[in-house]
Amino acid sequence: MVEKGAKFIFVTGGVLSSLGKGLASASIGALLESRGLTVTLQKLDPYINVDPGTMNPFQHGEVFVTDDGAETDLDLGHYERFTHARLGHDNNFTTGKIYDRVITKERRGDYLGGTVQVIPHITDEIKNSIRMVSKGVDIVIVEIGGTIGDIESLPFLEAIRQFRADAGKENVLYIHLTLVPYIGTAGELKTKPTQHSVKELRSIGIQPDILLCRTDRYLSKEIKSKIALFCNVSTDAVITAKDVECIYEVPLIFHKEGLDNKIVELLNIWTRTPRLEEWEQLCHRLKYPQYDVHIAVVGKYVDLTESYKSLNEALVHGGLLNGSRVGLTYVDSETISSGNCAEILAGADGILVPGGFGSRGIEGKICAAQYARENKVPYFGICLGMQIAVVEFARHIAGLQGAHSSEINAETPYPVIYLMTEWYDDQTKALQKRDASSNKGGTMRLGAYPCKLVENTLAYAAYDKREISERHRHRYEFNNEFRSRLEENGMIISGTSPDGDLVEIIELKDHPWYLGCQFHPEFKSRPMNPHPLFRDFIKAALVRSGHRKSSHPTIATP
Ligand code: GLN
Repeated sequence: MVEKGAKFIFVTGGVLSSLGKGLASASIGALLESRGLTVTLQKLDPYINVDPGTMNPFQHGEVFVTDDGAETDLDLGHYERFTHARLGHDNNFTTGKIYDRVITKERRGDYLGGTVQVIPHITDEIKNSIRMVSKGVDIVIVEIGGTIGDIESLPFLEAIRQFRADAGKENVLYIHLTLVPYIGTAGELKTKPTQHSVKELRSIGIQPDILLCRTDRYLSKEIKSKIALFCNVSTDAVITAKDVECIYEVPLIFHKEGLDNKIVELLNIWTRTPRLEEWEQLCHRLKYPQYDVHIAVVGKYVDLTESYKSLNEALVHGGLLNGSRVGLTYVDSETISSGNCAEILAGADGILVPGGFGSRGIEGKICAAQYARENKVPYFGICLGMQIAVVEFARHIAGLQGAHSSEINAETPYPVIYLMTEWYDDQTKALQKRDASSNKGGTMRLGAYPCKLVENTLAYAAYDKREISERHRHRYEFNNEFRSRLEENGMIISGTSPDGDLVEIIELKDHPWYLGCQFHPEFKSRPMNPHPLFRDFIKAALVRSGHRKSSHPTIATP
């Protein structure tokens, strides 16, 4: 059932990928919230994987984890950062997940002997998944992954076409994001790609109501009229989606272009006037930082910053509260060895080792952790980054030569990080079991878990409370067999599961700021509410830098 009052905005993309459909959808959400409406967002992805959890971050970018433990598309990260919507399993559907549901029903005999087909069974399932998230909100924004013209997105487009007839014309809006390129040799902006993309969309029965035109300059009235004429929309429904230096400017640009006005007009809803002061202040602070801090991110997926989307944003947020621009250098850990580590990391005011999987580049990360410990450089280890710090400390301080994580070396004499084969899972409230041969998909410790903090620690100073909740995505854990040995040698366990069993945060004595956490704090950082650990890490890095004044008051987004 569509909840009374819920209205739906479908966002599609044309011409080519990477135009920023996710950011556009998130910005629409932010604008509608600024007018006092409640929103939720959903992403429909046309690929066959059931979720992106098993996909290579090199190809697909970051896997964003929600409180309820869903491994989702990175666009959900934008949605959560730009709005107050709290997302979960139902906010991301893929072709694989839709088919999985339909096939399960078919095997169960739910279709009573009928022939199961794309239309209506797959499209019905898609429409159900959309309705599922409409409870209790004013507006549902649904982004369709892929580009118009792709074979695989057709069932989703057919479903959203049908949706208008089901939910009522006044309750559904189609927004299409296209490209209006400036061709230097002609000295003109070109509208043809947009015309073609809209033609393609209309050929499958969807007439867009609003066009977001990605471009590097503002569209003139003439260009807008031309696009309007050819694409059968009104001129004020042609919105310039201008390139920005800082992603948090997108809602402001959309607003100036009249997007939120047009949306509420077309959906026939009455709202308060938008309040965008917060966004304006945010952009101002990002553009004019006082200081400059340099952070080295030592990881594996360094060629594609999309792989560390939330992390990059969380670092920027951490800088905001300290009045600092955060300059990031991605260092491929495979290039680091004990011989060149000091040279490579010399310019870093702080070192961060992010999450990761597999053995590639591990020794380089261990060198980075050792360098940070010995040279008192602020160190922030996230998930794998914490495990690395534990291994490094075990090997070089606690005298456990050859210590390792059993993920990397199953034969290590000291598996300080190991695979728990049996544990009580707080989320599912059941005993869980696994071994090295278990399925890879969805079998990690996933989603929000409570963590108890120890007073007089860096963690406690940052959060300023006893119990926190953070999101996890990992298989391996700190091995309690070595806990006292490590503690005796100066490791501080500053956060554990409430029963004290699972080690969630480690720190070091006699170091300005050295902290590793088993969870991923980056998923919960927001521009308006930066994460305390990122704030304090950047603060420590600033101290190390001697509060270097920002030479170029530019924008802090990497
Ligand atoms: N590979 C490690 C594990 O599975 C760390 C995972 C991560 O960093 N997200 O425990």
